[in-house]
Amino acid sequence: MIQFNSLQQVNLTQKNVLVRVDLNVPMIDKKITDDTRIKAILPTIKYLIKNQAKIILISHFGRPEGVFNSEMSLKPIADHLATLLDVKVNFSPDCIGEIAKKNINEASFGSVVVLENLRFYKQETKGDIDFAKQLASLADIYVNDTFSSSHRAHASITTITKFLPSFAGFLMQYELENLNNLLQNPQQPMLAIVGGAKVSTKIDLLTSLSKKAKAILVGGGMANTFLFALGHQIGKSLCEKDFAQTALNIIEEAKKNNCQIILPSDVVVAKEFKANVRSQNIDITKISADDLILDVGLQTIQNISQQLNSYKTIVWNGPLGAFELNPFHLGTTSLALEVAKQTQEKGLLSVAGGGDIVSALNSCNLAQKFTYISTAGGAFLEWLEGKNLPGIFALSKSF
Ligand code: AMP
Repeated sequence: MIQFNSLQQVNLTQKNVLVRVDLNVPMIDKKITDDTRIKAILPTIKYLIKNQAKIILISHFGRPEGVFNSEMSLKPIADHLATLLDVKVNFSPDCIGEIAKKNINEASFGSVVVLENLRFYKQETKGDIDFAKQLASLADIYVNDTFSSSHRAHASITTITKFLPSFAGFLMQYELENLNNLLQNPQQPMLAIVGGAKVSTKIDLLTSLSKKAKAILVGGGMANTFLFALGHQIGKSLCEKDFAQTALNIIEEAKKNNCQIILPSDVVVAKEFKANVRSQNIDITKISADDLILDVGLQTIQNISQQLNSYKTIVWNGPLGAFELNPFHLGTTSLALEVAKQTQEKGLLSVAGGGDIVSALNSCNLAQKFTYISTAGGAFLEWLEGKNLPGIFALSKSF
C-alpha cells in the first residue's frame, strides 16, 4: 500500500497552494466537449477554498513542444472552471516569473489562479530543476491531484516535490484507494478483458495480468495477431505478424501462471474498414482471404457472458472491436451491458480504464454502472503493468 501525505493533515489557511491537475480536456474550436476531468478536481479546490488557501492551478495541455501556441492556452479552461465555482478565477498568461507572481499576489485567499500551460516551457517535460524551483517559489505547499499524469517524471510532477512540502489531492487519493482496493489484491477469481489495436503496445500488460487473472479475454485487433500465430486464416485483418512469436510466448507464460488466454471463437467480418458496410458473423475457421475482422462475434460474447458469474472481479482495457464504426461496437457494448448488469445485481467488482474503453462505455451510458472507472490512460496502464509511477513515488518519498 502506497503511503502519502493527505491534505487533511496540513494547515492551509493563508497559504499559497500549488495544485498540479490535469486540465488536458477534449476541445474543439476552443470549446470543451467533455469536462469530466475538470469536475473531478472540484473536491480538492472546494476544500482549499473552504480553508482559505490561495489556489494556484498548474497543468499541461496538448503537446506544444516548449513553445507558446494560442491553440493550447489554458485560458478557455480557466473560464469554464469559473462557471463551476462561486469564487473568482483569475488567469495568468505565464506559469513562472514576474507575470505569474503579479497575478498570484493580486488574487485573494479563497480564490483561484490558473497558470498558463506548463508545456510552453520545454523544461517541464525534461523534469528541469530550475523550472521546478521557479514553480515552487510561487507557493508554500504542493499538491498532486493528477494520477493521470503521474507516469511522467516531469518538473511539475516529480522534481517539484524536492522543494515544497507535498501532498496528495482528493482525486489522487480516490484513484489510488480504488486501484489499491480493487486491483492490488483483487477478489478472486479475476477475469481480464484486453482489447485494442496492437499486441505490441500491451505485452507488459498481458504478462502482468497473467500473474493475477484466472483468464484473459483477448479481443480487438490484438486478437488477430494471436489467431494468426495459432495458424488461423485472418484475411486482410489488422495483424502484427512480427509479433506472432510474442503472442505465442504470452500464451505459454500465461499457461505457466495457470491463466487461460481466451480468444474469440467467432468474429464479425466485412470487406471494408468503414461504418455501415455489409458485415457477417462467422466462425474463426471460415474467414476468407479478403475479409477484415472488425469485432468479436455473438457466440464469443454469449459464452463469456454466461461465465461472468464465476468471477468476482473484472478488469477491462481496450475495445473488443473497431467500436467507432457502426455496428462494430456491438461486441464491446453487449459484453459491457452484461458486466454492468452483474455489477449492479450480483456485486461483481468491475474496473475499466485506459483511454478508448472509457469513451466506448460513456457512449453507451454504461460507465457509471461499473464499480470504478479510471479516466487515466497511460498511467492506468502502467499501474496495471506493475510499474512504479514516478509521480506517486515522489509523493510517497515525501511522506
Ligand atoms: P488501443 O488504443 O490499443 O486501445 O486501440 C483502440 C483502437 O483499436 C480503436 O481505435 C479501435 O477502433 C481499434 N480496433 C479494435 N479492434 C479492431 C479491429 N478488429 N480492427 C481494427 N481496429 C481495431
